[in-house]
Amino acid sequence: MSTVLDPPEDLLAGLRKSNFRPSRSRGQHFLNDSSIARRIVEAAGVTRHTPVLEIGPGTGALTRHLVNRARGVTAVEIDAELARALQTAYGGYDHLTIMNRDVLDLDLSELMNAYGDPGFVLVANLPYGITGPVLERLIDHRDKIRRAVLMVQHEVGGRLAAHPGTKAYGAVTAIMAYHYGVESLFRVGGDRFVPRPAVDSVVLRLTPHERPPVSVRDAGLLIVVIKAAFQHRRKMLHHAMNRLAPGSAGYLSDHTGINLKRRGETLDLNEFAALSNALCEYRDNREDET
Ligand code: SAM
Repeated sequence: MSTVLDPPEDLLAGLRKSNFRPSRSRGQHFLNDSSIARRIVEAAGVTRHTPVLEIGPGTGALTRHLVNRARGVTAVEIDAELARALQTAYGGYDHLTIMNRDVLDLDLSELMNAYGDPGFVLVANLPYGITGPVLERLIDHRDKIRRAVLMVQHEVGGRLAAHPGTKAYGAVTAIMAYHYGVESLFRVGGDRFVPRPAVDSVVLRLTPHERPPVSVRDAGLLIVVIKAAFQHRRKMLHHAMNRLAPGSAGYLSDHTGINLKRRGETLDLNEFAALSNALCEYRDNREDET
């Protein structure tokens, strides 16, 4: 049965009485719209069978919906005052664990192993300052993640869901596309948060691919190729490829049909895969010759 918990605005009002001031450096912009919170939790597909990891529960805007649906919720909050207030307000739930920790210091593998297969759902209204490192961990631990529904700054969402040839398309877009299906679900205006942030946000759903969307001989090399292609994004690709393997550009273009006078930012994931496979072959051939 669902229980109605203290709304986040009451929690914040209580905290403010004891002089709590939201911290900008910790990205403390609290969601103040329960219909958006519900849409986020629905998008995460949380059921009685789903274990959930929430990063930064804050004043509980998402947590209060998650606890009523999930098998278990682990909510990791860096701010001791917020963690304490949440514990007081929601402490009656046996299946809710509030950890007062920096999520970046946690051994996620250990936490995730406790959930067993097929892993957990990650839900977060992410503080801007840790978006990059959290996305890296998402890639590192993708075998333990069923899906992630994340609210991020609009610009970051644009980069993750960008198409080749656009300004927003970058190494992170292609690398994420190799590991996850990325859906941009809906935009959330700055007026839906307290205090109001300078920019809008977007809600993304990331679902790990069951099988890689492209076939590559060496996934590590694919990432190296993608990063190299975007390192100097205004330069033609043959510079980047020759830097990776001197003299390889001619071979790569002959064996992939990709014109290396193009810029890296115009290549899609299939083309990056073709380049990295041809680079593998080129290196193998060189080794055979020596
Ligand atoms: N989930 C709440 C909501 O939607 O209203 C709060 C979201 S607020 C954007 C981000 C939350 O993450 C804050 O409560 C902040 O204290 C917390 N936070 C910031 N850095 C963190 C970190 N490294 N580890 C865990 N929590 C963090």
